[in-house]
This record gives sequence, C-alpha cells and structure tokens, in this order.
Amino acid sequence: MAKVLFVNPVIREEDDPKHVPYGMALLASIIMREGHLVQVYDANAWRAGDDVLTQVVQADDWDVIALGGITTAYGAIKHIVGLAKALAPRALVVAGGGFLTSMPHDVMRLLPQVDVGVVGEAFLSFPELLRRVDAGNRDWASVRGLVWRDAAGASHLTPEQPLLDDIDRLPYPAWELFPLDIYFRNSTFGFSEEGMAAKRRLDINASYGCSLICRFCFHLGIAGDMEYVQKDGQPDVRFGYKRAIRYHSPRYVVELVKYARSKFEIDFVSFLDENLMTMHQSSGKTWLTDIARLWIEEGLQPQCVRDGVPHDPERCSGIHWGGTSHATLCSPEVLKAIKAAGCSHLLYGYETFSARVMKTIGKGATPATNERLLRWTMEAGIRPIPNQMIGFPDEDFDSLR
Ligand code: SF4
Repeated sequence: MAKVLFVNPVIREEDDPKHVPYGMALLASIIMREGHLVQVYDANAWRAGDDVLTQVVQADDWDVIALGGITTAYGAIKHIVGLAKALAPRALVVAGGGFLTSMPHDVMRLLPQVDVGVVGEAFLSFPELLRRVDAGNRDWASVRGLVWRDAAGASHLTPEQPLLDDIDRLPYPAWELFPLDIYFRNSTFGFSEEGMAAKRRLDINASYGCSLICRFCFHLGIAGDMEYVQKDGQPDVRFGYKRAIRYHSPRYVVELVKYARSKFEIDFVSFLDENLMTMHQSSGKTWLTDIARLWIEEGLQPQCVRDGVPHDPERCSGIHWGGTSHATLCSPEVLKAIKAAGCSHLLYGYETFSARVMKTIGKGATPATNERLLRWTMEAGIRPIPNQMIGFPDEDFDSLR
C-alpha cells in the first residue's frame, strides 16, 4: 500500500492555528480505510520552519506527498512543493483543494513540481489515484477528476469526477493525526460567551454547498458548482450556479459529535458549513430541528441550557455549537429548537443594508429581513454575528449610510 505524507501548509501566518484542516483529515481517514500508510506534517500547527520540514520529507521513502489549501495558502504551497520535489524526487507530488481547482491549468504551469492535481472533490479521485500508484500504473488520463502533465509539459484535464452522492458513506475525519493539543490551545471562539470559554473545540462540515446565488460568492465551487467547459480547444473548469448541495443525515452529524466527544473530549463544535439554513430549508424544514432533537436525546445538550443557568465552563457538560444562517431562511421556531440544543451563535452574511445593493448582489434578503433576523436571533438567546461587506461594484456613499 502507498506511503502517503500529507503536508498542511501554513495559512494566515499572523494568526494562531485554529482549524484542523477538515478535508485533509477526511481524506486521510478515507485512504487509511483502504489500507494506505498515512503520516501528517502539520506545518500550520507546528510552525517549525524548513529544518523540520526537510527532516519529515526525508524521514521515509514516501510514494506520495500530498497537500492543498485555499488560494491564500499558495505561497506556502509553492515553497513546500519546491522543497518536496528537490528532497524526495521519487515521491509523486499531488496537490488539491481550492487553490488548484479554481485554475488547474494555471497551477500546473506555475508549479512544475506538482505532478498531478486533484480537481474538485477528492473523496473518490484521490483513492483511485493511489490505487494506480500501488499498481505502478501512472496512466492518469483514465482517472476522473485529475489534471496531469504530459511528456511535453502540457497539462490535461481528465473527465469530471461526479460528486459523492451519499456523503454519510464518509468515515469520520482522522483528527488524531493532527496535533490537537495545539489546536485546543486556540479553541477560544469570540462569537459568544460559550465560544470564548471553549477549551476543546473542533470544526465539522455537516453539509456541502449552498443553494443560494449571491453573485459575489465563489460558492464553494469544489463542492458542487464546478462545471467542465471547453476553452481554447481543451477542457477547463468554470464556476457557475448549479447549486448542488448535500448534507449529512442528522444521525450522522450527532454520532460524529458523540464520537468527537468520547475520543477527544470536545466542548464546542464550530460548523464550517456555508449555510446551515439552506440545508434546513431544502430538507422541508426538518434537518436542523432533527439534529437539535437528536442532540438532546443523545445527551449532548449543555447542562447550562438544560437548567436555564448561566454558562459555567468548569461545571457545564454537553456541547455548545455555532454555525451559519441566512436572513430569510430561518424562523423563530428553528432558532428556539437549536438554542435548546446548545447553539450559541449564528453567523449572518448580511453584507449590506442598502436595498439597492442587496438586489444587485442577489442576496435574496432586504434591510427589513436583516433587522428582523437580528431581533429573532437575540430573542431566541443566540448571539447573531453579522458580516458586512463594503465596496460592491455599484456601492456609493449613500449605500454605506
Ligand atoms: S448565502 Fe452565503 S454561501 Fe450561500 S451563496 Fe450567499 S454568500 Fe454564498
């Protein structure tokens, strides 16, 4: 079986490491389930510099060195692949994630040290790639969802990899491969009192994508809105508004949280989802209320919420959590249900309070719905965290007032 080294690049150098890379932890788990041998070097958590990275790259005869991230990690990724190729020339350097998926041909041109790129979701393509590695077969053209380079240096996109339909088939992330002590030291989440007091927070993705079409939003392209198109006579990718969304069953979500509590003693969950409320809406308004009901039935409800007393982190049992919402998709009923299950904050992409700008950005909300949701959320006892943006193309001084 393949020996795989995952390297998590430094992101936001000026900030403490706060988020275990969820996708990498999931991929590690998926390929370990297939029998591959996996190690992780978490450069973002350790911040140890090139000496340690060099030792890690030379520590074994890796078959694959895999890394990825969002576009802001590009500088760190570029540095790592250069070092990896120089020190471990036999290893196949594989990149993936948003930075590559958003412009696969350009990244293959800019980073000649990357041998193969995984375009879009890697849940199916990466294990398939490793099966080829095991078989000594480097015919990448027959694996869906890759970008590869031919002998002349030209990059080629293989046919699109369909999204994994039933995401409940995914194993739980291999959080144990990452230095959780470092992440737990940075658990504090400034969006609520409970988040501020968190000592052992983990992030979870309960869903993928978003069903809305805000025009400024990249829309989590790797998880549903990527389309293959012909450009300059060859396949390329484009990001549109297919609005493909997938969500785990409430049972999967709650069992995952129970697992994280029993194995890592977590006290807070931060849902990374783009927009929890669109999943609730598309499920016929059952998803979040079912999660909340199971959360309570399975003993995850925080003691302070159950007893109606202020949160005392020394005494409170159970798991508090926070996530994302939308101004027009939620209701006092769902807010009340999730508050009872320990929701302490919700992020709202209000973006603007100008009706004109809201219309042009396709937000699907109005100043009145923004204000109403702020009030409803506070009345439910959940802290609303409004996100505002300034500088939309047709913004003017009046729209900022
Ligand atoms: S609601 Fe949020 S995630 Fe969904 S399209 Fe709008 S900005 Fe993007």
